[in-house]
Amino acid sequence: MAESNLAPEKSFVFDFVERNAEAVATIGDSVFYFGELGMQEVESAKLMTETLEKEGFSVERGISGFPTGFCATFGSGAPVIAMHTEYDANPNNSQASGETEQKNITAYGPGHCEGHNCNAAVMVSGAIAAKRAMENFGLKGTLKVFGAPGEEQLISRPYYVRDGWFDDVDVALHDHIGGDMSTVYGLTHAAAVSAYFTFRGETAHASTAPWRARDALDGVVLMDMGMAQFREHMEPDMRAHRVIKDGGDQPNTIPAKATVWWTFRAPTAEGARKVFEQGKKIAEGAAMMTNTEIEIEVMSAVWPVRTNQGLAEVIQGNLDLVGVPEWTDDEQAFAEKLQIAADVTPEGLKTEVKPLLGPTAQRAPSNDCGDVSWKVPMGRVGFPGNVPNVPFHHWAGGAALATTIAHKGSVAGAKTLAGTVVDLLSNPALVKRAKETFAAEIGDVVYKPLIPADQKPPVDLNREMMETFRKPMREHYIKEKPEFV
Ligand SMILES: [Zn+2]
Repeated sequence: MAESNLAPEKSFVFDFVERNAEAVATIGDSVFYFGELGMQEVESAKLMTETLEKEGFSVERGISGFPTGFCATFGSGAPVIAMHTEYDANPNNSQASGETEQKNITAYGPGHCEGHNCNAAVMVSGAIAAKRAMENFGLKGTLKVFGAPGEEQLISRPYYVRDGWFDDVDVALHDHIGGDMSTVYGLTHAAAVSAYFTFRGETAHASTAPWRARDALDGVVLMDMGMAQFREHMEPDMRAHRVIKDGGDQPNTIPAKATVWWTFRAPTAEGARKVFEQGKKIAEGAAMMTNTEIEIEVMSAVWPVRTNQGLAEVIQGNLDLVGVPEWTDDEQAFAEKLQIAADVTPEGLKTEVKPLLGPTAQRAPSNDCGDVSWKVPMGRVGFPGNVPNVPFHHWAGGAALATTIAHKGSVAGAKTLAGTVVDLLSNPALVKRAKETFAAEIGDVVYKPLIPADQKPPVDLNREMMETFRKPMREHYIKEKPEFV
């Protein structure tokens, strides 16, 4: 890499991120040890917003009714460039960083097991670098930095889009950790609808007078059987999975209330809606069979994620300039040992940027940024802060997330993100090309939110679980604050 040949704006942001590598790591590590579940990312959002505010961004908190959501703005006028990412952890995934075996930080506690902690570090640091370049070189435009709570439950961004937060946005950038330094374009993720199905009946003593009861748990069980039969007739890419949130209190009291949480997925928004509609019919049938009543509460509903070719090309140019971090022998050895422990291909860390190939194949998971990606052209910066091949939502997915691998990967991610923003601010033709390719990509599909117009965010989600673990987790919080110089 010959940095001296770079445009001065580009060298500036690359140097800025390099110089502030410690602050990047502090954000990532802090969010790692907060380990906060979706909708309860209080400390994480506080750190991110305070850091951006200190830097001169004006911060709106609690947007669209999300207590841990925010929009931080800098600058004015066109182009309007949005950045957005998630910072939530998962239940039961507390994993000590730097260990190659399963080891809890807090017994049975929540923890990061993918790397959303690094996503936060990359977005905040990349945004600050871009903002400094705007000031230094007089670049015109607006940066909007969105904090998106509850990604693991696919919650917040469809609300943001529905409520108009992206109406004035020209292009959007999402950053996500992985084992690769890469970007893609095309349809990447599936659409999903997830909902609580609550059956309500009547209690009775299960031994002395079971005939007096209307058993809500029977409703849940029969819905499960109905869905199992329906699976045979789903299209090959459709998915349906569930957990029972409430199956009653004790065996001698027939439950008057039982709740099952289903997620339905398909490659298209229309497909996900179709599976959901069939799920509703099955639930109604189960209620009818058990003389119970059914209430259905939509938790989230997202479009499939698509990323834009025009933006992928700009991101790829920056990935190639930044290059994969120089890994030490120790880092390579750690990665390989972790891969062996996780029973995946032991190939160590990637040493080359992945080339941009044609449209990618769509995969089964979902991400709530799907709605953003049908509203405006969206690009994804994939940065190498985790060990390749490790399974996410598994202890091995958390083992590298506060190590130097995560730190160096996040620096590479923040440089790429900031470099991409600087390109888009300096060259209107790139924004134009993103919009043109986007128009061709979505064709005649008309975006309409899948979430109901009056749907409110589930603000109490995970509250109880998080409160149980906060006290022991607090002992591990990082004391330092990120300082950008
Ligand atoms: Zn993720």
